[in-house]
Amino acid sequence: MGLIVFDLDGTLIKERTIFAIAKKYGFLEEVVKVIEGPIKNYMKSKIIAGFLKGLTVNEFLDIIKKIPLMDGAEEVSKTLKDKGYKLGIISDGYTLVTEYFKEKLGFDFSVANRLEVKNGILTGKIYMPMGWLETRCFCKQSVCKRAHLRIYAKKYGVSVKDCVAVGDGPADLCMLDEAGLGIAFNPKTPELLKYAKMVIDKEDLREILSYL
Ligand SMILES: [Zn+2]
Repeated sequence: MGLIVFDLDGTLIKERTIFAIAKKYGFLEEVVKVIEGPIKNYMKSKIIAGFLKGLTVNEFLDIIKKIPLMDGAEEVSKTLKDKGYKLGIISDGYTLVTEYFKEKLGFDFSVANRLEVKNGILTGKIYMPMGWLETRCFCKQSVCKRAHLRIYAKKYGVSVKDCVAVGDGPADLCMLDEAGLGIAFNPKTPELLKYAKMVIDKEDLREILSYL
């Protein structure tokens, strides 16, 4: 028994959600500018959510549903469930997206930011779970993945040392640091190698099975 948490964008699915939406609705440049800017990570999430104002949930989900799963995602989810692992998605994206893929892959839980919806339309307001104040984590993200790994490990009665975290980007650093086994999956930044115990350089999730 153990707990395995996955990042979503670039790990369980092939695209970055906000980029897919921004490309379709023409605000990709603005999103990139915010991401590359000097402000704290959680403030970036807050500003980017504002760009979504006015989109309907259906328009949003139509794009999400077209994003392909990472190679091997379905097989790996099934294999790990059969082995008795609890599976979760921890993302600094949106619950609208993580819940969709949680259901699709048969995961146990997902954590992400919640977008406010009124009459089926996104208002641009975002509710962020945060967590880095409690853990004193360096990430200052809208979702501190370290904090939420701790919360779910406790919930399932698993020591964090027996947890596995899989991720590809800077938002995953604290989660890879916290887990007993951090796996960098096609790392987008060399910083990940400092925190990961294993590195996979192939776009196929089946590669993680040899470590579990
Ligand atoms: Zn953190």
